[in-house]
Amino acid sequence: MRVVRFVDAIAGVPDEWQRAQWGVLIDDAVCPVVQPPHICFSSGEGIQLSGPPLPLDRVRLLAPVAPTKVVCVGRNYAEHAAEFGNEAPPEPLLFLKPPTTIVGPGASVVYPDISERVDHEGELAVIIGRRCRYVNEADAAGVIFGYTIANDVTARDLQRKDGQWTRGKGFDTFGPVGPWVDTDYDHSGRTLRCSVNGELRQESNTDLMIHSVARIVSYATAFMTLVPGDIIMTGTPAGVGPVQPGDTMVVAIDGLGELSNPVVADSYGS
Ligand code: MG
Repeated sequence: MRVVRFVDAIAGVPDEWQRAQWGVLIDDAVCPVVQPPHICFSSGEGIQLSGPPLPLDRVRLLAPVAPTKVVCVGRNYAEHAAEFGNEAPPEPLLFLKPPTTIVGPGASVVYPDISERVDHEGELAVIIGRRCRYVNEADAAGVIFGYTIANDVTARDLQRKDGQWTRGKGFDTFGPVGPWVDTDYDHSGRTLRCSVNGELRQESNTDLMIHSVARIVSYATAFMTLVPGDIIMTGTPAGVGPVQPGDTMVVAIDGLGELSNPVVADSYGS
C-alpha cells in the first residue's frame, strides 16, 4: 500500500488554506481515507475510504507523514564518513531535525542567507507505526509502518562551525520526504541515487549501511519513545555536495519512486 497526504490542486488556492487529507494510491488514483493510515496501523483498525478516487493531476502531494520528531543517523555509510575524514562510528550517531524541516515532494528548499554551503543528502527513511520503547532488534519490523525517501539537507558550514548540528540540519524546509510511504517495501539491497540538475552525485546500496534499520530502531528506543508517524532518516552515502538556488535535487530509491525538490533563494529577509 502506498500512503499519501495531499491537498486539492485548485488553481490559485494556496496549500496552507486547505485542509490536508490522507489517502492511498490505487491504480495511480488517490483514494481519500477517513483516518491517517499509520494511526489505523497502530490501532489495528482497517482503512476506510472517504470519497471517490481523484486522478493524480487533481491533487498536490504533501509530505506523506507529519512526525512529532525526525531521528537521523550520521555517518552510517563508511565511504561517506571517510569523505569528510571521519571514522565510522561504532554505535549509531543520532541527531534530531525539527518537524518544521519537513516538506513534501516538489516543495521548495530555501537556501538560507546565513549559509554559504548547503548540501544534499539522499537517504532511506523509516516511518514508525506503533508507540514503542525498548524494542529488540528482532522485533523492530513490527513497529515499522513503512518506508519513504528523504533528503537530509544540511548547511555544512554551520554544522562545522557550531559543533552541534541543530542549526546546520534544522532550517525550515531542510527535510523533504516523499512522495509516498510504501507499507510493503523490502528495503534490503536497494540502489539509492541522488542527482542535481540531472547530474548523478550519489549512488550506493542500502546494504552498505553500517547500522541496520533494526539496530537503529533498537538503539533509539533504548532512550526515547517513538510514536506513529515519527521518521528515522538512516544516513547518506558518499557523494554529498553543494547545491545553489535554481538547482533541482532528485533522490531516487529502487521501488520507492523519486523525490524532487527545487532550491530557492531566501526571500524572508528582503
Ligand atoms: Mg544525513
